[in-house]
Amino acid sequence: MGVRAVIPYPRLRGGVEGVAHHKKPNPTSKPDRPTDRRYVILWPLVLDAHTGRLMNVLLLGSGGREHALAWKIARSPRFRRLFAVPGNTGTGIYGQNVPFPLTDVDALLDLAQREGVDLLVVGPEAPLAEGIVDRFTAAGIPAFGPTAAAARLESSKAFAKEVMAAAGVPTATARVFGHPAEALAFARTSAQPWVVKADGLAGGKGVVVADDLPTTLAAIERLAATPAGKYLLLEERLYGRELSLMALCDGQRLLPLPPARDYKRLGAGNTGPNTSGMGTVAPVDDVSPALADTIVATCMQPVVNEMARRGTPFRGLLYAGLMLTSSGPHVLEFNVRFGDPEAQAILPLLEGDFLELLYDCAVGALHPEKLRRRRGYAVCVVLASGGYPGKSRRGSPIHGVEAIDDAEVVIFHAGTAISPQGLRTNGGRILGITGLGSTMARARARAYQAAERIKFDGKNYRSDIGQEPETQS
Ligand code: ATP
Repeated sequence: MGVRAVIPYPRLRGGVEGVAHHKKPNPTSKPDRPTDRRYVILWPLVLDAHTGRLMNVLLLGSGGREHALAWKIARSPRFRRLFAVPGNTGTGIYGQNVPFPLTDVDALLDLAQREGVDLLVVGPEAPLAEGIVDRFTAAGIPAFGPTAAAARLESSKAFAKEVMAAAGVPTATARVFGHPAEALAFARTSAQPWVVKADGLAGGKGVVVADDLPTTLAAIERLAATPAGKYLLLEERLYGRELSLMALCDGQRLLPLPPARDYKRLGAGNTGPNTSGMGTVAPVDDVSPALADTIVATCMQPVVNEMARRGTPFRGLLYAGLMLTSSGPHVLEFNVRFGDPEAQAILPLLEGDFLELLYDCAVGALHPEKLRRRRGYAVCVVLASGGYPGKSRRGSPIHGVEAIDDAEVVIFHAGTAISPQGLRTNGGRILGITGLGSTMARARARAYQAAERIKFDGKNYRSDIGQEPETQS
């Protein structure tokens, strides 16, 4: 399919809710170019002379994370055009949403070549595991994200354990089983509860932290029956506070972003079922710069070195899920892309040319001095629909987004759609509301004030994001 399949992006005009919130978080910086037509016309001419080539970007994904990426990319002086596949209401503000399936790599390459795409940015993990970056780089188009070989750090937990062992990275000890009967027999003889993990990608449903042996055995049987459970891991249980540290990586160097803590359970006080994430805060105060340095030095850089040594260097975003145990930070998991909603709290805290940083990672030439952190805190509160994380009703009107007029609040679309009558719910997680402030309390107050003013049927959100640090979900 070619360019004819590109649909015009849904322009959010006055009267349709969903546009007024795209305010700059920093009122002293330049206006939000993509919603201002004068800038759309003049900006390329002005900047081409000063900063070199402008870039067309192809962004893959459709969640709040992708809106946050588009929002940040579109602020770069080097940004020209965005194509988002499939995109969502939020990405559509900055460019064209293109309704291809992410699995149709030929169509994506065709689109990229026809439209002169300079950089591919991949949001979710599945296309990375399937090798989209390999295909784009082979075609001469730089891509922000790891190759399939490097993406195995997330797509195979057994592989990640093997790399961590080779690199001397602190992590829970684990045994890998190729048959559930072996795992069951081992669990029975050990007679203790285990953390049971499916080896492959399971969309957040592949881990059971068991409290007793019957739960361990039931988890082995259940996970073995899933596509991700061809291999199973039984892992020692660790105790401590969790946090995540993400870093940009160019194959050699790591550039850490502000540490974040996410809230996985549906209900306040870590109650209810696990979700893909109900909120995030960043930076996390109990992670001092010294501790962040330790995490990079002991948990992340050795893995990057080991991947390079193997001839499969890691480029893109390395996300370490960590537990701060009594014997120091330990890795729970690696992800190979931005977390969602973590990206919605972290990206508004960054200053500097984000698009250029992504490009530099893709071509193996990261310059850490290009990144600056905004002072202060970000609190992202996810507004979910009633049934989430189960089935939820779609199509309910969303009111109040347009009325949020606070420069320190950014609203990211996740599961929304635009109908002729206005904004509608269209998924489980609907919006991410990020409040910024000089203190966590101020950022939190802003996020919650906005969250309360937005209305839709069945709206559900946690009331304690940024209040109590998470311990364990
Ligand atoms: P999936 O593979 O299904 O996408 P995931 O990648 O989110 O899941 P992990 O991050 O490894 O899986 O684990 C999910 C959660 O389980 C962690 O955030 C943590 O709370 C808990 N957990 C994982 N491993 C351990 C461990 N060894 N000890 C204690 N808790 C753990």
